[in-house]
Amino acid sequence: MYDSFNTLKNDCLLCRRCGLCEGRTTVVFGTGNENSNILFIGEGPGEQEDLRAEPFVGRSGKLLDLYLNGIGLDRKKNIYIANIVKCRPPQNRDPLPQEQEECLFWLREQVRLMRPKIIVCLGRISAAKLISPQFKVTVDHGVFYDKKGILMMGTFHPAALLRDPRKKEDALEDFLKLKEQLEKIKAAQN
Ligand code: SF4
Repeated sequence: MYDSFNTLKNDCLLCRRCGLCEGRTTVVFGTGNENSNILFIGEGPGEQEDLRAEPFVGRSGKLLDLYLNGIGLDRKKNIYIANIVKCRPPQNRDPLPQEQEECLFWLREQVRLMRPKIIVCLGRISAAKLISPQFKVTVDHGVFYDKKGILMMGTFHPAALLRDPRKKEDALEDFLKLKEQLEKIKAAQN
């Protein structure tokens, strides 16, 4: 158990808990403001993320930023973004269940230290791991689940939206629902 985000990050950057450490350039620990109320969680780093040590860069990242900015969120100011696995799976394959399980150690500590009020799972892998193994993004997206006091919602991975732009409207609705939830939290705090 860690008592600071910095110590956690320093140890994570040296992690060799699973085989994904062999092929990585960098450990992609996460980015953003760890004191914010909201945590976005994707699947794992791709090629650009691995090179730049930041989650959601490139075309996917730009699209995610558009959705975020549209509801007043900014990865540099008021959210935090991390992934289920922090090292790039080879050829961008899905992270294996054992790799996800090993890496969850770091994410659990991030969540414990952050104590976010809302977690948004970006894509199938993240939502299946954190919300329910039966989670189907096309059916269950945009629904908020209360898990031990944290509101959790799954929506489309931006890469899936680039592959199938017809889903963009659904994703926009999910982000508008997220905005509503954030407004409720803000109102309750005032
Ligand atoms: S993916 Fe996670 S558990 Fe595996 S080596 Fe990287 S940081 Fe460690």
